[in-house]
Amino acid sequence: MDFIPLAKPNILDSDIAEVSRVLRSGMLVQGIEVCELEKNIANYISTKHASAVSNGTASLHLALIALGIKPDDEVIVPAFSYMATANVVELIGATPVFVDIDVATFNIDVTKIESVITKNTKAIIPVHEFGLACDIEAVIAIAKKHNLFVIEDAACALGAKQNNKPVGSFGEFGSFSFHPRKAITSGEGGILTTNNPNYAKKIEILRNHGIEMADLKMEFIEAGFNYRLTDFQAVLVNSQFKRIEQGLAYKQKLADLYLSSIKNSKVTLPVIPGDRNHTWQSFHIVFNDKINRDEVILHLKNKNIGSNYGAQCMPFQKYYLDKYKLNCAELFPNAMTAYTKGLAIPMHELLTEDHVKYISSTINEL
Ligand SMILES: *Cc1c(COP(=O)(O)O)cnc(C)c1O
Repeated sequence: MDFIPLAKPNILDSDIAEVSRVLRSGMLVQGIEVCELEKNIANYISTKHASAVSNGTASLHLALIALGIKPDDEVIVPAFSYMATANVVELIGATPVFVDIDVATFNIDVTKIESVITKNTKAIIPVHEFGLACDIEAVIAIAKKHNLFVIEDAACALGAKQNNKPVGSFGEFGSFSFHPRKAITSGEGGILTTNNPNYAKKIEILRNHGIEMADLKMEFIEAGFNYRLTDFQAVLVNSQFKRIEQGLAYKQKLADLYLSSIKNSKVTLPVIPGDRNHTWQSFHIVFNDKINRDEVILHLKNKNIGSNYGAQCMPFQKYYLDKYKLNCAELFPNAMTAYTKGLAIPMHELLTEDHVKYISSTINEL
């Protein structure tokens, strides 16, 4: 069996032809393809607006700035996510306040949010981890009660829903990534969804050097960024967007096969609450104390299977540990379990059912 990578984007010749077409046109920076992408995503998420940016970290960063989050404000984030979720809060000088996760879903434990809210809390960034919608309805209810903004980190979760409502349409902003590890990719890329026209306008100004166009005249009204997406990246993701439903359905089939084939009492499988769907950006399992996760990574590599940590216990990483000195084992036991005992195993559109059976039987032998 050839090496089975953990992840691999599904780029077809038709996608490459589309990128070539845009490259040959000479129109490379933000243009009509970016516009098309914004229409596609706003329509798919059912928000009034979508604004494309250079990556999913830039999109979270801009959302915080557009909402007016300031140094010394506090922003609630789950303790377990990709580091970008906390880094953007640090980048604007605000303080990330970590909340433990539910170890069954790897999403923020909504019952633990209210106890960390203070007079300085301004926003919550719930993460739809690994592509599973978090209990975003509960997060929104808490945010309403305490007058907080919600930025959904849906980087992994294009197509995920709670009660049939797409993630990215609940909060002030939904933030998506088009990194190659996500459902559809532009290489690097991201997009922010919102129903608020003022927020959308703010993002469009901030991503483009602070420029506002008034009567065809440029006015630099903010100290903005260059966080634009290029048209040849946008067309790559537009081309894949046409088959997003097939891709998600195929990964659901593979996930169902993993769920029925992995049978090992030392392994806990992912759980999908009934009111939500999983888009399977990652298939993440957790080992019990009898298994050394890091040894499994090497063992699987010897069996030609790629695997890796799913995400980080963020307050346990060096920068955060040095700065905040939080006792993670005590405060975030579930995030620590997911971080030290969790493993993402191959999940992508180029994986076959035979691969899944081979990987499952290898895991069953552990
Ligand atoms: C991928 C990811 C990001 C960052 O997206 P980039 O496009 O790589 O910057 C942020 N948050 C989560 C949860 C992610 O998985």
